[in-house]
Amino acid sequence: MRLRFAPSPTGYLHVGGARTAIFNWLLARKQRGIFVLRIEDTDRDRSKDEHTQAILDGMTWLGLDWDEGPYFQSEGVERHRAAALRLLEEDRAYRDFSDPEAVRAEAKERGMHPSRVAREKAEALGQAGADERAADGEPHAVRFRVPDGETVFEDMVHGEMRFGNDDIDDLVVLRSDGTPVYNLAVVSDDAEMGITHVIRGDDHLSNTPKQVLLYRALGLAEPIFAHVPLILGPDGKRLSKRHGATAVGDYAEEGILPEAMVNFLSLLGWSPGDDREFMTIDELIEAFDPNRILKKSSVFDSDKLAWLNGKHLAAMADVELVGHLRAAFVGQGGYRDALLDDGEWAGALLEAIKVRARTLDELADQARPFVCDELSYDEKAVQKNWLKDPTTAVERLERVAAAYRDAEWTKEDLEARLRALAEEMEVGAGKLIHPLRVALTGNMASPGIFDVLVLLGPERVFQRIDAGLDRIRAG
Ligand code: GLU
Repeated sequence: MRLRFAPSPTGYLHVGGARTAIFNWLLARKQRGIFVLRIEDTDRDRSKDEHTQAILDGMTWLGLDWDEGPYFQSEGVERHRAAALRLLEEDRAYRDFSDPEAVRAEAKERGMHPSRVAREKAEALGQAGADERAADGEPHAVRFRVPDGETVFEDMVHGEMRFGNDDIDDLVVLRSDGTPVYNLAVVSDDAEMGITHVIRGDDHLSNTPKQVLLYRALGLAEPIFAHVPLILGPDGKRLSKRHGATAVGDYAEEGILPEAMVNFLSLLGWSPGDDREFMTIDELIEAFDPNRILKKSSVFDSDKLAWLNGKHLAAMADVELVGHLRAAFVGQGGYRDALLDDGEWAGALLEAIKVRARTLDELADQARPFVCDELSYDEKAVQKNWLKDPTTAVERLERVAAAYRDAEWTKEDLEARLRALAEEMEVGAGKLIHPLRVALTGNMASPGIFDVLVLLGPERVFQRIDAGLDRIRAG
């Protein structure tokens, strides 16, 4: 099997495009086939190098490695042109000298398709007349003559597709400036590259009968097609920027893991046939079957992406997560890199914070109080737990600090001491824990307080309590 992803470099890598790439890549990997990357850059005005780069970056981030390419469609222009001229030679195409404006007006008046008016004019002119005007250098387009009958092909998603040829216009294959059109270029390229299967968006379905006719007219082997339904936003409209981020790169920046993104996009319009949702890349490759691509559109559900991301995060090896944390903190004020060198400590930290994070950004936020010395206090937490009643807060923090002076610094010992103190002071343990949590993490929420105490160690705990006391007294 030979598959391809053929993006036009007219923008960033959109999640819909990424899903198309993923489906082709999964099938190629499953069948031990070849995955080709082809950049369709024939639209000169809209194609930009920076877009090509953004697409390559997006694919690299997702882990979609290609075996051949990137090829550029523009490199094949001579071959595309030769294909158009061959159609002309074999009388499967004709020269069109007509003025498009006039043809359009006439077609409207007669209730015909413009290309059929152009065809009539070409027939009236005759072969000899056309050859003569072409020899004189008169500019003209080359149009494919759609044969009578029906165009039928099998689509892996939609089953048998039938199009009456009367409804297909005689498409221009070569413009009057000599440039080939997209539908011809794509056929010529896919045939040249030996592509056997084309999985692409439903929005191309109206092009496919034209392309099928071109394959047949050129005597080229046609691939098997699978047209994947659109991705919709939660409101049932086609997914767009209105719904949030649509660029794959935005998700990378938000701390989404590539394996979660691949997992999530794979399940948009496809299912493994059982109720699995969390799937590793290897499991996706193993399970992928284009025959199970769904006919109906799928809805982009950001909550599900975040949920899947949390699952992938939790399943990640500690060393990898530590790598992400280092990357997030390097260069930040008060960051103590050496702490993460201690595998046991880092493992305990991850154990405590992993379950509280759904993205890498959230993971870094959770880790910050443990690896960075500079603590920023959440103002709401300060007001609620300290400044509402500063005298009590000071007393409670001081009593906790005193109870911990000679502690063994195990979770059990720390917990026993705090509970004994609460009993002695005749308050619930929470009354001591809440102001302490703000002192140690700056926040109202954190992992269990005894995990926090152990992770920070006595030196930093006493420092932070002192800093907290200063803060409260400053008001
Ligand atoms: N270049 C086309 C696009 O980006 C894809 C063509 C195809 O997959 O056949 O929409």
